[in-house]
Amino acid sequence: MLHPHRFVFKVVAALLMVVSISLSTQQAQGQGGIVVEDATVAVSFGKTITFQAKVKAPIGIKQVSLLFRGVNEDVTRVETVQLAEDGFVSFAYDASLNVFPPFSSIVFWFQATLADDKTYTSAPITFSYNDNRFPWRDVKKANVTVHWYAGDDAFGAAALDAAGAGMLAINEFIPISLTQPIDIYIYSNAPDLQNTLLLGGEDWVGGHANPELGVVLVAVAPGTNQSIDLETKIPHELAHVMLYRSLGKPYANQPAWLLEGIASMVEYPNPDYKHALNVASTNDALLSFADLCASFPADAGNAFLAYAQSQSFVTYIRETYGTSGLARLTKSYSEGFNCELGATNALGTPLSQLDARWRESVLGQNITGVAARNLSPFVLLMALVLVVPLWGAIDMLRQRRKRANQQSK
Ligand SMILES: [Zn+2]
Repeated sequence: MLHPHRFVFKVVAALLMVVSISLSTQQAQGQGGIVVEDATVAVSFGKTITFQAKVKAPIGIKQVSLLFRGVNEDVTRVETVQLAEDGFVSFAYDASLNVFPPFSSIVFWFQATLADDKTYTSAPITFSYNDNRFPWRDVKKANVTVHWYAGDDAFGAAALDAAGAGMLAINEFIPISLTQPIDIYIYSNAPDLQNTLLLGGEDWVGGHANPELGVVLVAVAPGTNQSIDLETKIPHELAHVMLYRSLGKPYANQPAWLLEGIASMVEYPNPDYKHALNVASTNDALLSFADLCASFPADAGNAFLAYAQSQSFVTYIRETYGTSGLARLTKSYSEGFNCELGATNALGTPLSQLDARWRESVLGQNITGVAARNLSPFVLLMALVLVVPLWGAIDMLRQRRKRANQQSK
């Protein structure tokens, strides 16, 4: 699924567990002058992060600041902290207002101005900001670890199988890494997952990937549908991670329909996609791919149609231009071409015309008139030139068939 970075906070109703993380940095030596002792971080997921330590120096300490940021973030948060006589400092950060991504790594350190008016910095300490509200269990194979809290051992094994099958399917058109770790967290229901993501009310969000972190979150309930559900959601989100690892930062330049189309191609086949396509096609309610470049619709119905269309469209592109055509397309968008012209650069056909051709050849719409109007005079001329040899070929076929008929008589 897409990852709208919305910070609509909904109070997490679940029991919050506070887990103190003991940090093996009791004697972290500050660079030139300060010593940080007994550093601890207590995470109450989605609510507060409490940092505590003792900051000491051989001469007087005038001021102490706590600095912290997500390891993939550019912005560092700086908080001035009160220093007790024994050097004890404590700061509770409101993690509900300025959220960190779940399962991300956070790094913190201290800065102190001493009596000599110089500023000293301690060594950085890293900890994991995990969703510790649930009793996670885990199982691992190669570089993939599955974490779950509802369901039995077979559920964990089925999830690992779904990940393996997904990797195989993805490998057909994206190079996959078997060394960089991937963590898949399976929530047992959508509200648990949505509380984690602080999405609030987007009931259709059943999965989420944080490709930079190599973290996948999905909602799958244990039960009779678990296998299909796992085989739908896990491969989809894994594809986002693999695409990011293959494309790097220009992943962000790719159109939404392309990313979601590729990810949806490795899902367990969804019969409802075809139905949604046919209904929308019949009612002239298909979405234009030009409108699915930046993002997908927010409402559930159109979002579902957007996934159905993107899967069908990218499948059509792959069948028409091959896996290499698909690779040229992602490369073209990586290079910064816009949504319409990226397709022209990679496949020789602008997005709007690909859209029209897909509607004709996959959905059986009759819009040749529209397509012909879009054709440049040059292309029309080429078409006329091609018609002549085509008639020649048909003539030859006719004669051959005539001969064959004569022989068989
Ligand atoms: Zn997706």
